[in-house]
Amino acid sequence: MALLSGVIRRLDETVVNRIAAGEVIQRPANAIKEMVENCLDAKATSIQVTVKDGGLKLIQIQDNGCGIRKEDLDIVCERFTTSKLQTFEDLSSISTYGFRGEALASISHVAHVTITSKTADGKCAYRANYSDGKLKSAPKPCAGNQGTQITVEDLFYNVTTRRKALKNPSEEYAKILDVVSRYAIHNSGVSFSVKKQGETVADVRTLSNATTVDNIRSVFGNAVSRELIEVGCEDATLAFKMKGYVTNANYSVKKCTFLLFINHRLVDSSALRKAIETVYAAYLPKNTHPFLYISLEITPQNVDVNVHPTKHEVHFLHEDSILERVQQHIESKLLGSNSSRMYFTQTLLPGATVSSTDIVKTTNSSVGQGGDKVYAHQMVRTDSRDQKLDAFLQPLNKSTSPGLAAAAPQSDDSKNTSCKDTRLQDFEMEECTDLNSAAEAEDVLEKPQKNQPSPLKDVPARKRQRTDTDVEMEEDTGQEMTAACTPRRRIINLTSVLTLQEEITNQAHTGLQEMLRDHSFVGCINPQWALAQYQTKLYLLNTTKLSQEMFYQILIYDFGNFGVLRLSEPAPLYDLAILALENVESGWTEEDGPKEGLAEYIVDFLTKKNEMLKDYFSLEIDAEGNLTGLPLLIDNYIPPLEGLPMFVLRLATEVNWDEEKECFESLSRECAMFYSIRKQYIMEDSDLATPQAEDSGIATKSWKWTVEHVLYKGLRTHLLPPKHFTEDGNILQLANLPDLYKVFERC
Ligand code: ADP
Ligand code: MG
Repeated sequence: MALLSGVIRRLDETVVNRIAAGEVIQRPANAIKEMVENCLDAKATSIQVTVKDGGLKLIQIQDNGCGIRKEDLDIVCERFTTSKLQTFEDLSSISTYGFRGEALASISHVAHVTITSKTADGKCAYRANYSDGKLKSAPKPCAGNQGTQITVEDLFYNVTTRRKALKNPSEEYAKILDVVSRYAIHNSGVSFSVKKQGETVADVRTLSNATTVDNIRSVFGNAVSRELIEVGCEDATLAFKMKGYVTNANYSVKKCTFLLFINHRLVDSSALRKAIETVYAAYLPKNTHPFLYISLEITPQNVDVNVHPTKHEVHFLHEDSILERVQQHIESKLLGSNSSRMYFTQTLLPGATVSSTDIVKTTNSSVGQGGDKVYAHQMVRTDSRDQKLDAFLQPLNKSTSPGLAAAAPQSDDSKNTSCKDTRLQDFEMEECTDLNSAAEAEDVLEKPQKNQPSPLKDVPARKRQRTDTDVEMEEDTGQEMTAACTPRRRIINLTSVLTLQEEITNQAHTGLQEMLRDHSFVGCINPQWALAQYQTKLYLLNTTKLSQEMFYQILIYDFGNFGVLRLSEPAPLYDLAILALENVESGWTEEDGPKEGLAEYIVDFLTKKNEMLKDYFSLEIDAEGNLTGLPLLIDNYIPPLEGLPMFVLRLATEVNWDEEKECFESLSRECAMFYSIRKQYIMEDSDLATPQAEDSGIATKSWKWTVEHVLYKGLRTHLLPPKHFTEDGNILQLANLPDLYKVFERC
């Protein structure tokens, strides 16, 4: 009843402070945001966050910044103490996050705070405990590295209602991860980590030498990072600068991710979000959204920096004009990126958006080393025109060797995948029907190659329209597109395919990916094994397995969007099946029944699936049970056709046709196996026995040329190497230059 007594009393000061603190610090993630900003203000390059129970039990933030002087430790937690602002005028030119000295004070009113800090010139670190903004006892000297560690325990121990409202630690932890990863992306150059206490693996982890795109990749995954377009514009009259990364029209998800920093503060602006989403609406499927990371710098006079700490939504002067400029810029970039979709086989990792200048950033990889400085002994010459292995080998057959040299032009990477050059290519395959013996099969392998350089027909392979809602056609933007080289890409929304794509992304190993992307090709040992150099290391690579995985990923990523390698003569599935059953590899025994019956069953079975096979995989089977087309996965590559009979057999026997996802996966795996380059098929025709197409005057490509200029070129951009390649011997590091130097030094 005391409450109703009508007597107005002045509230106890600590109660006032506690109420005020509760307004600033609403949940663990707010506290962490404020403290991370303090670390950044202190010029830290490493910020490590450890939490327990979603930050409710413990938050610990360790940085390597400038530290807090011992004499300042007395007052840091009092309200309105700051080292960053002295006069009100300073506000308009403020460049630090903090300026009002409110965060630490607020936290200390609602939690137990311990600060341990050492400055560069301090002799040792000092530790101090705080409660209700006050130092509890004089700071004590202790050991410690330069920087500051702030521990916040039992958040809201004295605010029962708030504590009760935050019952779900995992929800709080998710919010913490979200806020720290956003700061990590915005602050490339600073390494961040967040983990739960007692865990060894961090849930967010970025490295100090990683780029913004690397950080986006490590937080949001490859699915986002591979589709990024860099944006940036400025306008002197409107006094703003914008930069960032946004996804292109290939990427669309149910929920928009919008990272907005205005003057380096994480904020929100629904006006800006809406403005940008309007642009995307014309490009993305209905009800789907992009990923956006935008950093806006607006002259401090035009934006109110003195916002309340919890106020995220911001407004600024000339808002409409600025939004319009940003919209225009993003629209122009989106249109520009359309040209990349003209590539027939989609580039999984558009080189333009992935930094190529950095050295390897992953320390946990077996590839490359971290560190900013490159020492002389780590430098290498990696000019692709340099000598390759072949130069040191004696040609087996003198008469053909000059031909080989001509057939292996030095890498001319810029040309090969350009859509304008290659367009949709169809190979007419002749006499494919007579697959009666292995010898003839070899013949077949060579014949289509003769046709390769001849004028090729353009086949509008992707014109098939479907009504299926899981597959949509891209909006025709009508922008400078010519019919010849711009098949509209079908957007595949099948959950099964999207899941398979995600699985590939989740398995990817960044270190290996960079190695493959930037390697220098050294030479082929045989069709299965090749050597490549990356930085100071020499690697032995299993081309068979790498190409197999690449074809699998292309099948999954370009699902439903393949061109066709057309067989000019239809190949009867029946003959192919019989051929396969006659092969011991098939494992056929008498108990399986007569081969003819099985072959008939296979033809019947696959013919029934022809619509799906054609639509999704460009595997064309006509009504008579003949194979007429195979998917074109990468330009200038025909799968080793000796594998065709076995492929047909396995399509019927090894593919799981019952479950959608398993079906697409196993079908793609089988197809990838068929497409991969294999030793047993190619070794037989000697590496130098490649025939020349004399009449056309253009050398037919040898398998070596194909390995180097088609497969390894494809691996640079089309493969997200799975982690298991580091362990299963498919990628082996043979030598490391600095180690070799050590050996020579001893000589
Ligand atoms: P503000 O950031 O607004 O100045 P805070 O309450 O967040 O206020 O911090 C108070 C002061 O404590 C800061 O001005 C700064 O001098 C010091 N401080 C806080 N955290 C750190 C840190 N991690 N490293 C160095 N100094 C810090
Ligand atoms: Mg602060």
